[in-house]
Amino acid sequence: NGAISFKDVHFAYDPARPILKGISFEVPAGKTVAVVGPSGAGKSTLSRLLYRFYDVQSGTITIDDQDLRTVTQKSLRKVIGMVPQDTVLFNDTIAYNIRYGRPGASEGEVTAAAEIAQISEFIRHLPEGFETKVGERGLKLSGGEKQRVAIARTVLKAPPVLILDEATSALDTTTEREIQAALDIVSKNRTTLVIAHRLSTVIGADEIIVLKSGVIAERGTHANLLAQN
Ligand code: ADP
Ligand code: ADP
Repeated sequence: NGAISFKDVHFAYDPARPILKGISFEVPAGKTVAVVGPSGAGKSTLSRLLYRFYDVQSGTITIDDQDLRTVTQKSLRKVIGMVPQDTVLFNDTIAYNIRYGRPGASEGEVTAAAEIAQISEFIRHLPEGFETKVGERGLKLSGGEKQRVAIARTVLKAPPVLILDEATSALDTTTEREIQAALDIVSKNRTTLVIAHRLSTVIGADEIIVLKSGVIAERGTHANLLAQN
């Protein structure tokens, strides 16, 4: 479950400047659709609408045929997991930051999620900038390591729908490859919307949508799109 549908979606932050101009596509349950396109095309806006940071101005977005406008943000957050570009860490151990994905999770489940994300060695530590009463120093995590915390959180939460917003764009090539492998595990059999910069990072997507200036300029599989261009 978790099928997503965008039907003729229009959206503008400022009424004088439309950002999305009639977007329609579907992500069948368990499949992955990637949205690529130049900076400013409206890719992140699509993911924000799906997470209901904003509501569409016309058209509809549904998850499992339910109009998002009838779904509370709270219940939506149980269904959707997001691995954002920048992961915010909280003033507690990395293990706590992972457990935030599902507060009821057991110690063993947190440990298993950390293993999948390959951050087992960090989980007892605090993030940098936070210090305990006994003066323990926080650990400085790289962008990739923070991303792994977000991945572990999502592994634990195991939501039916996943939004990956340029999740590997800030990383060096080696780290990007490793994170991509972890993301592939997380997104397997989940309905996934990937926002990406480059076609090369979304080879495995079931469909790729090329967004330009708020309209769908092209769509197809990776092979289709390469053949056309
Ligand atoms: P992309 O993810 O494809 O780079 P975005 O969806 O982030 O594009 O942005 C699309 C357009 O909307 C850009 O021109 C951007 O400047 C504008 N925009 C994004 N967020 C806001 C906002 N909160 N208020 C006003 N304009 C915004
Ligand atoms: P949310 O609405 O889920 O809090 P935000 O966009 O505000 O989402 O938060 C950005 C990221 O920080 C998300 O990955 C979210 O899971 C995480 N996050 C938000 N609040 C907390 C918290 N109190 N503790 C740990 N992580 C959090």
